[in-house]
Amino acid sequence: MKREVKVAKYYGYCSGVELAVNTLNRIMEKEKEIYIYGDLIHNRIVMEELKQRGLKVIKNIDEIPETGTMVIRTHGVKPEVYDKAKEKGLKIVDLTCIFVKRSQNFAKKIISEDLKLIIIGEKNHDEILSIQGNAGGESIVINSVEEAKSINGVERAGIVIQTTFERELAKSIIGELFDKINYMEIYNTICDATEKRQESCKALASQTDSFVVIGDKNSSNTNRLYEIAKSINKHTFMVSDKRSINCDDFKYSKTVGVTAGASTPDYIINGVIERIENC
Ligand code: SF4
Repeated sequence: MKREVKVAKYYGYCSGVELAVNTLNRIMEKEKEIYIYGDLIHNRIVMEELKQRGLKVIKNIDEIPETGTMVIRTHGVKPEVYDKAKEKGLKIVDLTCIFVKRSQNFAKKIISEDLKLIIIGEKNHDEILSIQGNAGGESIVINSVEEAKSINGVERAGIVIQTTFERELAKSIIGELFDKINYMEIYNTICDATEKRQESCKALASQTDSFVVIGDKNSSNTNRLYEIAKSINKHTFMVSDKRSINCDDFKYSKTVGVTAGASTPDYIINGVIERIENC
């Protein structure tokens, strides 16, 4: 059967990831001892390639020799990590995305205004940990309307949202908080790239027989795209690259929609498209 693959208007690498990957590639051409605190992006295929080219992923600054360069990932780090690296005299390359920095700054402002900081996002996600660390005060992290319902005794709050969170879910959570909290300062910190990818995923998912979301299972924004597409098109699959395509899944599909998370490079996306077309 001739099969047509349609690609969402916005998909794949966002500006923050593209800048981080390109900068790291340039540094790796010149320097040898490059260390990164946690994964640069949530894509195991990309991280594996970088490691094979010499990038060392560490969990503790003590693992970096004094001659080393420390790269800070797109999700940012807690200030303690930054301070320790500075103290040690390491060369630091900060690749924290500007949208994550913006959330960190709003969180700091909320704490300085003596408001309760509420972060809508995934507990223990690298970005959330960096926002909490930079806020410099206590915070509550919630991920669902049910969790919003369980908040009690907060009268004045400031809200920031994980950059890759789903807009509609964030609106429902804020709606729930609106009934419980007297004064709220709401900062919509969902990044533009996320909103555009979610909107174009939504628009395409209803127009094709099946739908494929390409990205890593560890990637928050990829999981959100999958949830959005699946709620519209029951025949939706998530794949990490062309090796996870099962041709039987598409045997009755004349049209297949495709999108990809913000940490999925073009060569992986093109490989998947080619595989589906030739199934
Ligand atoms: S998804 Fe948004 S916040 Fe995350 S790296 Fe890309 S542009 Fe930055």
